[in-house]
Amino acid sequence: MSGPVIAILALGGTIAASPAQPGHAATMDLDANDLVRALPALATVAEIRAESFLRIGSAELSFAAMSALAARIQNAAAEGADGVVVTQGTDTLEETAFLLDRLVQTDIPVVVTGAMRNAGHPGADGLANLLSAVRVAASPVARGVGTLVVMNDEVHLARFVRKGHATSTATFDSPQLGAVGWVAEGRVRIPLVPRHRARRFDVPGGVAFPQVALVKLSLGDSPRLIELIDTDTFAGAVVETYGAGHVSERALEALGNLADRMPTVFASRTGVGEVHTATCDFGGSELRLLERGLIPSVALDGLKARLLLALLLAVGAGQQEIRAEFEAAAE
Ligand code: ASP
Repeated sequence: MSGPVIAILALGGTIAASPAQPGHAATMDLDANDLVRALPALATVAEIRAESFLRIGSAELSFAAMSALAARIQNAAAEGADGVVVTQGTDTLEETAFLLDRLVQTDIPVVVTGAMRNAGHPGADGLANLLSAVRVAASPVARGVGTLVVMNDEVHLARFVRKGHATSTATFDSPQLGAVGWVAEGRVRIPLVPRHRARRFDVPGGVAFPQVALVKLSLGDSPRLIELIDTDTFAGAVVETYGAGHVSERALEALGNLADRMPTVFASRTGVGEVHTATCDFGGSELRLLERGLIPSVALDGLKARLLLALLLAVGAGQQEIRAEFEAAAE
């Protein structure tokens, strides 16, 4: 068919998995062409260019792999693709989508999808998700809005989406504001779009992304964990604090020392909402964290704050720029 050209770049994950025999556990044996062959309806939506970019579990994906994928997406656009769909495991999908949103330097739609049930399960959702993802990638309304996640016929912004359930097919949600669109009877609706595109980072291939530690505080925790974050291994750190940015007095000293060693961002371990900067003046409150040089993640959760800090450190950003970018990410 002539129509939009959509590149499908397959990375692996459950959407690429099926059991060799009924009743057996699934292996990751489907490549991009297998997925396309199993879904003839795709041909009614777009001209498909399928490519197996990787075939690994999403826990194996890395910053380097995502940087290479971003370059591949840009090439696909240069080769005439009107949109790109990335299929991958769902476990780290909220992180990879966020990275693509910040790394891909093209405005064609980029849609990430996956599956919660492999092809051997009744109600397998992979092909349904792929069809909806291709419909969104082929839609002009998905252009220029940044990387999208399409699962369960919902459209989510990479900036807000998270995996919220271990097994449900409705696992992806955007707790801060909800889905921005949906697919119904093949129609793509995206009534909500961001006011502006987030800053994109031009990280040349071959540049190693700095390691950023992520620590979640918990009742009665030991400051020792924070003390172990060393500058040989890590260039920055994100700490998921209680509520709107509170820590124990026990942890405060260790966190202040950490912020002396490397840029240290504090987020809320609730994963939703904005951390405070001027509300509580007691114990290990946000005022103490700010005095000790920690940087508020503003409204990014710990996982996404870690990615943004890694991107900023990769381009050599200093304290001021880091602060400003976290602020900008909430605009
Ligand atoms: N383990 C799988 C992954 O690669 C799970 C999934 O695909 O949902 O993330």
